[in-house]
Amino acid sequence: MSTISEVDVGTRIDRLLESDLSDRPGFLGAQYDLGLAWIHFPEGSGGLGADRGFQKLVHDAVVAVDAPQPKYEIGYGMAAPTIVTVGTDDQKERWLRPLFTGEEVWCQLFSEPGAGSDVAGLSCRAVRDGDEWVVNGQKVWTSNAHLARWGLLVTRTDPDAPKHQGISFFLMDMSTPGVEVRPLVQANGSTHFNEVFLTGVRIPAEQLVGDLHGGWGPARMVLANEAAFIGRGGGSTAHRLVELARMFRRQDDPVIRQGLADAFIREQIIRLLGRRIRAALRHDGPTVVDPALTKVFAADSKARNGQLATAISGAAGVAGPDPVGRWVQAELINRFTISIGGGTTEVQKNNLAERWLGLPREPWPDKGLPWRDVPRS
Ligand SMILES: Cc1cc2nc3c(=O)[nH]c(=O)nc-3n(C[C@H](O)[C@H](O)[C@H](O)COP(=O)(O)OP(=O)(O)OC[C@H]3O[C@@H](n4cnc5c(N)ncnc54)[C@H](O)[C@@H]3O)c2cc1C
Repeated sequence: MSTISEVDVGTRIDRLLESDLSDRPGFLGAQYDLGLAWIHFPEGSGGLGADRGFQKLVHDAVVAVDAPQPKYEIGYGMAAPTIVTVGTDDQKERWLRPLFTGEEVWCQLFSEPGAGSDVAGLSCRAVRDGDEWVVNGQKVWTSNAHLARWGLLVTRTDPDAPKHQGISFFLMDMSTPGVEVRPLVQANGSTHFNEVFLTGVRIPAEQLVGDLHGGWGPARMVLANEAAFIGRGGGSTAHRLVELARMFRRQDDPVIRQGLADAFIREQIIRLLGRRIRAALRHDGPTVVDPALTKVFAADSKARNGQLATAISGAAGVAGPDPVGRWVQAELINRFTISIGGGTTEVQKNNLAERWLGLPREPWPDKGLPWRDVPRS
């Protein structure tokens, strides 16, 4: 049990605020070294082993002076909680600090052309060779792979075991020979995700996370953190939509007004649900709201916002080459991203139906079958 008090945390925050706010990695590095990055993580891993509730003190103090805050969602939100839970001490020491400061960007190498919703059916192979693993396969939809230095990689290491039991989880250096990243260009010219081809990629054995063939555990941890992250709500799209309506003189249109009020209501609901989840997490309490529920709701809300932006601005707005037009295009093109990324709405609904409504599990025809014998396209 930690003996850290609110006064101890306050003293550390005072020391942190003496750091240079204009030096982003320097400031975040100081936050990590003072144990204020994730206050509930162990000492030496960016935390103090203290009650999560104290994190709010740090957050409020940092926001009040407009100090740098961590970003890069996959590293901060998904890799860190996994590494701190199942990683070795050496892994925590090597990866957590640069991940928090943002000096090393991360990506998530899970989905494959033949394994998306059923990611446990993945085919990417890793074979042991001395002190290394040799990886061959293909990943797809890998967000930010073109920017990332490190990847969370799931591979098949035992094809004779049932699909969930023959997977291993690695931390992979994206600059290793044999890693080829090909950006997928979207209709509006932006590149967010990529195909990643892995050909004879050598990964040192000490970069295995958790048990050999036990990678499904850490993979599930990543996926759970991803769903919670996506469902948390972000900046205010409702207010941007109101601005758009003013710009296109549609604020008096009764149908548009209904749509704007609806967008505002949805945004408030997402924010309040997110706040309840975070409050429960801060106090290590049971999650009162299933993150899958907020993700489904946020996905539906994003799709409606994209349609509303298009309805407000019309063809002229969608085709506009200016920043407003580009924003409308992005809202339109990206309106289904949350419904698919991080587990589709249909899959989340299946999970909710089983967890909360006591409905029978989906048929599982390949249960217990060696992965090698599972039919696949
Ligand atoms: C914006 C975005 C970012 C992404 N980033 C990443 C990333 O960084 N890393 C990564 O690894 N992946 C990423 N993905 C991939 C994402 O995780 C997959 O697209 C997703 O899991 C769905 O897999 P799939 O595309 O293969 O569709 P499929 O699994 O083939 O599904 C096709 C359709 O069938 C439905 N379906 C499938 N199974 C069931 C079922 N049991 N019951 C009912 N319906 C079902 C699905 O809902 C969907 O409508 C990203 C995707 C998007 C859109």
